[in-house]
Amino acid sequence: MKKEYILGIDLGVNNAFVSSTYKGCGDSFRYMIKEKDPDWTYIEHWVKRCAGYVIGWFKWSKATIIALENISFDTMTYEKFMELVQEEILVKAGNIKTHLVDCQYTSRICWVCGYEDVRNRPSQDSFHCYKCGFSENADVNAAKVIAIKCAIDLAKKFKEQGQNWMNRFFILESNRNNKILVEKIEWACDAI
Ligand SMILES: [Zn+2]
Repeated sequence: MKKEYILGIDLGVNNAFVSSTYKGCGDSFRYMIKEKDPDWTYIEHWVKRCAGYVIGWFKWSKATIIALENISFDTMTYEKFMELVQEEILVKAGNIKTHLVDCQYTSRICWVCGYEDVRNRPSQDSFHCYKCGFSENADVNAAKVIAIKCAIDLAKKFKEQGQNWMNRFFILESNRNNKILVEKIEWACDAI
């Protein structure tokens, strides 16, 4: 049975991309693509540059899937942007699999216990779970939640097809010392 290892990537508040393995690069895109008349030449340049970092993290972590969130605050602009991101990642890394997850509540779900609450975000940068007390950089927590959502999506698909989904999908994360950890999340299994 082929195991899948998922690297979650968040479009960060402070960085362009932040990974579930504690890496970050570039200035945030969020504000650039929200502008009335985005500078696509500049954005394209940034996407290309930052996608190179993402591929590096992907290879370093030995992941098999990159999970991104499908934000839709301005559909047209964002679709164009995500197309650019996915194309660039696929071009740079050959046949990397990407998966887009629903962005709802991603930034306020606790990756440890799954509890969702607006109070979990005391500030834009920080995450503190109101239920279990877990604290983390908000973008890193979000990247891990994105990876978990991807695992849930894929496991559900396998389950529907009558295939074995248990012990098949794993989240790649790392601690601050860069040690890669492979996690199977209890609450995600309950959601499948
Ligand atoms: Zn929690």
